[in-house]
Amino acid sequence: MSAPIPEGSLKMVQPVWHHFSPGQNHAAGELYQTSLMTALLNGVYEGETTYGEIRRHGDFGLGTFNDLDGEMVGFDGMFYQLRSDGSARPVAAEQKTPFAVVTFFQPERELELPGNAGKKELLAFLEKVTDANLFTAVRIDGAFDEVRTRTVQIQHRPFPPLTEATAHQPEKSFCNVEGTLAGFRSPSYAQGIGVAGFHLHFLRKDKQGGGHALDYRLRNGILQICTLHDFHVELPNSGDFLKAKFDDKSFDQQIKASEG
Ligand code: ZN
Repeated sequence: MSAPIPEGSLKMVQPVWHHFSPGQNHAAGELYQTSLMTALLNGVYEGETTYGEIRRHGDFGLGTFNDLDGEMVGFDGMFYQLRSDGSARPVAAEQKTPFAVVTFFQPERELELPGNAGKKELLAFLEKVTDANLFTAVRIDGAFDEVRTRTVQIQHRPFPPLTEATAHQPEKSFCNVEGTLAGFRSPSYAQGIGVAGFHLHFLRKDKQGGGHALDYRLRNGILQICTLHDFHVELPNSGDFLKAKFDDKSFDQQIKASEG
């Protein structure tokens, strides 16, 4: 059922670090991020960091790809690329990213979620069981009446700002679907560095599609959460990043428009 793993895929780089038990891993409990949300807003869509590198800092997370070629969602040690043509495939270790957020997911709580719940109700529940002022990795496995997603489309130079790139983004609805929502709750003070509040990506259980989750209605599901106490950001060194203008104070509105 699953697609063949391409040469150099993440599954193949896994044995390099796999012998570390979670307790021995110095990065346990750490949120690891490459670049900034405000850099994406500024059109910094090319990073030097490979997913092979990212994979050494986590087995769970979300992100995008160079030239904004789709959405990344990862859990259970496998990362997937969800592209605007509707395709989904395992990420190869040599693929590069301008923005990704990962952690080693070690759930401290598992809870049954309220059934027949819309996004608003679900996020209200999640807010109650997580800390507003810490980062939390969030995973929901369940059956959904509907999940509405978007998938960013590959961009070409000169890169437009993110609000333009996402203005006409292709949206897709998955109905009566099983799958996983994976992502993070981030504190309000992190807005700009990341996305404050909830940022979740979806992958169908059959791994054949998904995207950035815009809206959803859960029939029934299980929530797992993992609170994080360290935050590590790798800053880019590219000309695009060094020349980007970060003094535009409207980034809060821009993030809400492009990531809402
Ligand atoms: Zn997203």
